[in-house]
Amino acid sequence: MTATTDQFTDFSGFTEQFPRNLLIGGEWVEGGAGATMPVENPATGETLTVVADAEPADGARALAAAVAAQRDWARTAPRKRSEILRAAYDLLLARIEDLALLMTLEMGKSLDEARGEVRYAAEFFRWFSEEAVRIDGGYTRVPAGDKRALVLAAPVGPCLLITPWNFPLAMGARKIGPAIAAGCTMVLKPAPQTPLSSLALAAILIEAGLPAGVLNVVTTSRAGELTEPLLRGGEVRKLSFTGSTAVGKILLAQCGSAVVRTSMELGGNAPFLVFSDADLDVALDAAMQAKMRNMGEACTSANRFYVHEGVAAPFAEELARRMSALRVAPGWLEGAQVGPLIDGASRDKVQRLVRDAVSRGATVLAGGGAPEGPGYFYRPTVLIDVAAASELCSAEIFGPVAAIQTFNDDDDVVALANNTPWGLVGYVFTQDVDRAFNVSEDLNVGMVGLNSGIVSDPATPFGGVKESGLGREGGRVGIDEFLDYKLISMPIRR
Ligand code: NAP
Repeated sequence: MTATTDQFTDFSGFTEQFPRNLLIGGEWVEGGAGATMPVENPATGETLTVVADAEPADGARALAAAVAAQRDWARTAPRKRSEILRAAYDLLLARIEDLALLMTLEMGKSLDEARGEVRYAAEFFRWFSEEAVRIDGGYTRVPAGDKRALVLAAPVGPCLLITPWNFPLAMGARKIGPAIAAGCTMVLKPAPQTPLSSLALAAILIEAGLPAGVLNVVTTSRAGELTEPLLRGGEVRKLSFTGSTAVGKILLAQCGSAVVRTSMELGGNAPFLVFSDADLDVALDAAMQAKMRNMGEACTSANRFYVHEGVAAPFAEELARRMSALRVAPGWLEGAQVGPLIDGASRDKVQRLVRDAVSRGATVLAGGGAPEGPGYFYRPTVLIDVAAASELCSAEIFGPVAAIQTFNDDDDVVALANNTPWGLVGYVFTQDVDRAFNVSEDLNVGMVGLNSGIVSDPATPFGGVKESGLGREGGRVGIDEFLDYKLISMPIRR
């Protein structure tokens, strides 16, 4: 598979090299009714290709395959599971150019960002290949002295994994990696906008030696209809979901009926705090990363900028200059930095949020609208004097819009930052060590970027508090989400 990155618009020959059917029990199969669904290129609005559109019965077949494979997979040597992950890591990096172009075509991000995501996804496989052989338990004598206690870590069992479109490869890898390491089988349901990356990832895992039935992939336009019976049926023992808080709440309720374990990586509304003593260059570099990574379509995206009134003017002017200089273009073109948003509805929402802020008194320093032409592009935008009541302060913008408010008191700004139902990440910029730790401790979030615009790393725990979710992905704790601890208790008789 060789990709080229010239400005060509017919990508059919390229996309057709990748699987587009369902993966069930190790076989690539059509959906039961033979139905297909289109995959759109958001940079052109054209259909790239079609993939199988699973019906609920296909979901049941996929789960049956996962259930059938569970016992043998749990008994497979950890070293074997580790080596499969390591082989998949190597294959992902060997195929980085093709995978990056595939992702750019279905999702919109620039090739540079897509390459970064392939590396990031691969690192989850390398990290969990190392964790697979470090699962441990315990052997103790209880404090009363009358029992021996053995604690074994066992896979939770068949898992349902549901992923969003914004990081189509990494969100899957972040779940599949620890599930394989722990010895769980899976049904993956990717987002309908970006099924190709998930199918390509599954093909790589099979090539790396993953046995039939361990990973099953169902692409569908009928997500709720397909997954609800699986969650209520009792055979799925774990749901790992990444997506919006609204959908997460629906799924949590469904999981209640069969007491299914959950990991929930949900939405965010990240505050970005720039104090008067911040190194402004550091804060600006980080602002560009935290705002513009993935065109702002990230759960970790800086959503509310709070800048001390003493430094707000130079910060805003320089941010506007840098945002205006970005090249907005289809992601596969040389030098493209800002690709399209995922679809027309997302672009319309961003436009509506900007208009609402302007109607409440905000001033547009850069951007502020969509360029002419095809695709769902939106210009990198900077707004100042944003009123706190503006809708974009309480909603995830999920687009390239930096909304700046000012402050003059530390306690006030922390209270403002925490005044949201979400708590995924916060960014803090200061050179005062006491302030850095005080504010980091006081923010109600799962992660803090301290003088840094990027927090995620496969070796560290990723996740939020409040309505941003439950559980953590990555780090030493990432594998625990897929393990149950089983106690074997024996009386001591002498
Ligand atoms: P979404 O609308 O919640 O969809 C996420 C996934 O859930 C998709 O595969 C979707 O498929 C599926 N889904 C929707 N309704 C469902 C239902 N009733 N039953 C079963 N599955 C259902 O979110 P999105 O728009 O794709 O992604 C953006 C959101 O994800 C943002 O809120 C973002 O913050 C969040 N996110 C969080 C993290 C994190 O780690 N915390 C990372 C990335 C993204 P359909 O589209 O077919 O319904």
